[in-house]
Amino acid sequence: MIVASDLGKLYGSIEAVKGISFNIEKGEIVGLLGPNGAGKTTIMKILTCYMFPSYGDASVNDYNIFTDPLKVKQSIGYLPENAPLYPDLNVIEYLEFMADARGLTGASRKERLEYVLDACSIEDVAYRGIGKLSKGYRQRTGLAQAIIHDPEILILDEPTTGLDPNQIIEIRELIKKLGKEKTVILSTHILQEVEATCGRVLILNEGKIIARGTTEDIGREMKGEVLLDLTLKGTNLENADKSLVSLSGVKKILNSKKVEDTKRNFHLSLTPQANAEEEIFDWAVSNGYKITAMIPEKFSLEDIFIKLTHEGGENAN
Ligand code: ATP
Repeated sequence: MIVASDLGKLYGSIEAVKGISFNIEKGEIVGLLGPNGAGKTTIMKILTCYMFPSYGDASVNDYNIFTDPLKVKQSIGYLPENAPLYPDLNVIEYLEFMADARGLTGASRKERLEYVLDACSIEDVAYRGIGKLSKGYRQRTGLAQAIIHDPEILILDEPTTGLDPNQIIEIRELIKKLGKEKTVILSTHILQEVEATCGRVLILNEGKIIARGTTEDIGREMKGEVLLDLTLKGTNLENADKSLVSLSGVKKILNSKKVEDTKRNFHLSLTPQANAEEEIFDWAVSNGYKITAMIPEKFSLEDIFIKLTHEGGENAN
C-alpha cells in the first residue's frame, strides 16, 4: 500500500532523511516515532507529494510519487502538523469548501459531509466559527477534512499535539475507528501514543530507521538486556569505571556519578547470559568496595526509546 525505497532528502547540506525503506500494508496503523528533527514530517511531505525526495523512490496506493502525484494525492487524506483551517469560516462552510476542492458533487457530497460530521463528532459545532473552537474540535475538523473524500490512506502528522488528556483519548479512539477501514500512518514523539494507537512502529532518529516492528517485538528484543543501579562505597572510586566495564557481565556504563565523597553511583547495562551480579559482587569485594545498593531495573518503552535514539539501533555498527 505504501512502499518507500531508499528515500532521502537533503535541505542544502542537511540530510534530513537518509536512505530509508519501509512497506506499510493495507489496513495497518503504523506510527513514525522519533524525537524532534528525526525526519518524520519530511517523510510525510514526500509521501503526500508536497515535495520530492532528493533520492530514492516511493509509491502510495500503487501510484508512484514521481509519475502519478495527482493519483497519490487523491488517495490520501493528510492532516499536517498545523491543521489547515480557515478560522473565519464555520465548520460546515469549511468542510463544504474542502468537499468542492476534492471534487465531490451531488448526493455523494451531501452523504460525505454528513458522514464526517458524525464520524468526527462535530455535528454540535457545525455552525460555529472555526476560530472560536477548542483545540480538540479544531483537530477533529482537521481530521474531518482529511477523510472527506473517503481516501484509502490517512497521513496524520502529530495528530494529538497540544490537546488535553481527554481530547487526546477522543482523537486516539477516532483514529483507531478510522484505522479499521483505512491504512493510517501517523507521526508522534509520544511513546504512549504508539502503544495506544499503532499496530506497528518505525522508530526514527536523525533521518534513519533505528528499529521497527510491533511495540511488543521491539520491547522483547530490548528486554534481553538488564539494567542495574549500583552504588559503591570506598576510596579511589573514580578509577572504578575502567575495571568495572572490563567485567564480562557489564556491557556498558550508562552513567557514573559521584554521590558523596566516598560513594559513587553507576547505571549499568548488563550482558544477560552472564551471571553479572555475582561477578560484580566478587569484583567489589576484591577491590575493597562496599556495595550499598544493587537494584535491577526493567526497561520501559521509554528506556527503549532513549537507548535506541542514543545508540543507533538497527543501523548501529
Ligand atoms: P518535529 O517533531 O520537530 O516536527 P520531525 O521529525 O518531523 O521533527 P523534520 O521536520 O522532518 O523532523 O525535520 C528533519 C530535519 O530537517 C531537522 O533537522 C529540520 O531542522 C530540517 N528541516 C526540515 N525542514 C527544513 C527546511 N525546509 N529547510 C531546512 N531544513 C529543514
